Amino acid sequence: MVTTPEISVGARAKYEPVIGLEVHVQLLTVTKIFCSCSTRFGAPPNTNVCPVCLGLPGALPVLNRKAVEFAVLAAMALNCRINETSIFARKNYFYPDLPKGYQISQYDKPLAEFGWINIPSGAGEKKIGITRLHLEEDAGKSLHEGFADSADTTAIDLNRSGVPLIEIVSEPDISSPDEAYEYLTRLKEIILYTGVSDCNMEEGSLRCDANVSVRPRGQKQLGTKTEIKNVNSFRFIREALEYEVDRQVGILESGGKIIQETRLYDANQGKTYSMRSKEEAHDYRYFPEPDLLPLVLDEKSLAEIGNMLPELPEAKRKRMVSEYGITSYDAQVLTASKTLADEFEAAAKRAKNPKRVANLVQSELVGRLKAKGLDIGQSPISMKGVALSADLVESGAISGKMLKDLYDLCFERNQDFPEVYEKEKPQQITDSSAIEKIIDDVIAANAKQLEQYRAGKKTVMGFFVGQVMKASKGQANPQMVNELLSKKLEG
Ligand SMILES: [Zn+2]
Repeated sequence: MVTTPEISVGARAKYEPVIGLEVHVQLLTVTKIFCSCSTRFGAPPNTNVCPVCLGLPGALPVLNRKAVEFAVLAAMALNCRINETSIFARKNYFYPDLPKGYQISQYDKPLAEFGWINIPSGAGEKKIGITRLHLEEDAGKSLHEGFADSADTTAIDLNRSGVPLIEIVSEPDISSPDEAYEYLTRLKEIILYTGVSDCNMEEGSLRCDANVSVRPRGQKQLGTKTEIKNVNSFRFIREALEYEVDRQVGILESGGKIIQETRLYDANQGKTYSMRSKEEAHDYRYFPEPDLLPLVLDEKSLAEIGNMLPELPEAKRKRMVSEYGITSYDAQVLTASKTLADEFEAAAKRAKNPKRVANLVQSELVGRLKAKGLDIGQSPISMKGVALSADLVESGAISGKMLKDLYDLCFERNQDFPEVYEKEKPQQITDSSAIEKIIDDVIAANAKQLEQYRAGKKTVMGFFVGQVMKASKGQANPQMVNELLSKKLEG
């Protein structure tokens, strides 16, 4: 339950929220950023470690080329300018899960800057600036539960120490919690398309902190901001921001002052609460990392990485709309993941009528998936199956009704369409004398409706079609039924 402070609509309307987001994304490299230890999630504690990631004296970091490639790919996908030279820096602070006493990050010379992404906003699109994207290593993890003595002891797992991250910092261009949600959704979608991260929030592969302040509408100067940390879902970030905006407006309206501080979000209570004030904040004393050379990316290596950049979701949607004659809503559903989009395209290209494939996904697949609480990636019917069913309807081998029944069976049995079709092979009646026989019976049994039809009430046609289809158990070819029925009714 979200409990927001009591703020009148009028008070809220007087202020404009200013939001900036910092997103950490774990890169999907096999090994860590400065050593050859595995990055695998879920290994027993402290088994993926070596002198480098344990921070032992004298151990030297060696930069992982793949981590650089992945970071550059992400930066390109986010329309950033890649700096030819970027510098690794030591960010000094003490924390039990940081054995070196500093984190290797990038500071005043980051890998990339000046990017942007578009998000849907109101009727159109809004461009959100990306200040910078830099590479850094992750810290270890403090474990506060799961041990016999957890009540009074904290354990440290350093498997995560040295796992490569990119930090993506947005401009404070975001002006509502909804926009923040859209930004994160689009950002995640783009990163997933590049394949450089799985963006799995439960496993911490994507983490987000939000900076938020409010200011009277029309005022240029920014208000005092607070930082909300460690929120573990996009929905909770939106809720936390909604709460925090109202909290700040409430304080200002009652003549108070916002304190610059770090706050945490309690999803159960729907409230943010203070973690530490700025007075206790760190001065990181950044300085260039002496054990690593500046990272230099020449044009040739950037061009090579650029060649690996796949078509991104926005471009793909635009192309699919024009290429397959589908709506932008269809395109949105079909590009939910890159795998799905690729499968759809492969199927649509093979099918006789690509538009029908898209329509079937919309009209027959999405609803059934929703009813079962499945995501489109978990569909029992593959895109290949959808394409086959579209072709069967297109050629008149099965009717729309049969297709629906077959789809139901696929979901019941959790089997793909080709399998179910092969087993059931519903036979459509295309023998005109057999259909005529059914029509004759139906007409004979419904003299009153026949009279209405002949008196000019042509809408009764629908009734007759329904009766004939029912009598044929849905197997009569609908087009033939329509043709033969019109002839017979006209007498
Ligand atoms: Zn290591």
